[in-house]
Amino acid sequence: MTQTIGVLALQGDVREHLRALASCGVDAIAVRRPAELAAVDGLVLPGGESTTMVKLARIFDLLEPLRERVKDGLPAFGTCAGMILLADRVEDGAPGQETVGGLDITVRRNAFGRQVDSFEEDLHVEGLDDPVHAVFIRAPWVEEVGPGVETLARVAAGPAAGRIVGVRQGHLMATSFHPEVGGDTRIHQMFVDLVRRG
Ligand code: GLN
Repeated sequence: MTQTIGVLALQGDVREHLRALASCGVDAIAVRRPAELAAVDGLVLPGGESTTMVKLARIFDLLEPLRERVKDGLPAFGTCAGMILLADRVEDGAPGQETVGGLDITVRRNAFGRQVDSFEEDLHVEGLDDPVHAVFIRAPWVEEVGPGVETLARVAAGPAAGRIVGVRQGHLMATSFHPEVGGDTRIHQMFVDLVRRG
C-alpha cells in the first residue's frame, strides 16, 4: 500500500517537501484542514516561522488535532521551525510561545545568533554513510534531550561545534537544517522508512 504523507501547509517551504516526499515514492499532500490531517500516515512540519505557524494552526482549528494525532503516535518530522513546533520546551521563544510538542527536547530558537543568519555544513547523520550538505537558516539547536531521545546529528566545526541539530524519538524526527533544499532525499527517505515501519 502506498503511504500518504502530509506536509503542514500553513506557511513555509511546503512545496520543496512535497517534491522530496513524492520522489521517495509516497503520496504527498498539503495539510491545511483537520480532515486532511486525519487522512495522512505521517506528517512533515516544514521550516518557516514557528510563531506564525502556531497562530495559523489555531485559526485553522488544527492545533488541538495536531497535538492529539502526534500524541496518538502519528509519525512526524519537523525541520527548523517544524523542530520548534514538535519540541516540548522552547528557549528564546516569543512570550508565551506554544508548540504542538511530543519530542522530549528543549530547543533554543534562533540559536546560532543574528549575525549567523544562515550557514551550510557537511554533517554526519547517524544511519547514513556519506555526509549530508546541511543548510541552516535562522535555525534552532537542541539545547537538551530527554532520556528517550536519540541524537542523529551534531554541528562538526566552528563556534557551535557539538550542538545537536538532528534527533529521533520513537515516531518523531526533527532537524535544525533544511533537508528539502538541494535535492538530497536521504533524510526524507529515513522519515518515509519510519512511517512504513508504522
Ligand atoms: N527562526 C524561525 C522560527 O523561530 C525558524 C527558521 C526556519 O524555519 N528557517 O520559527
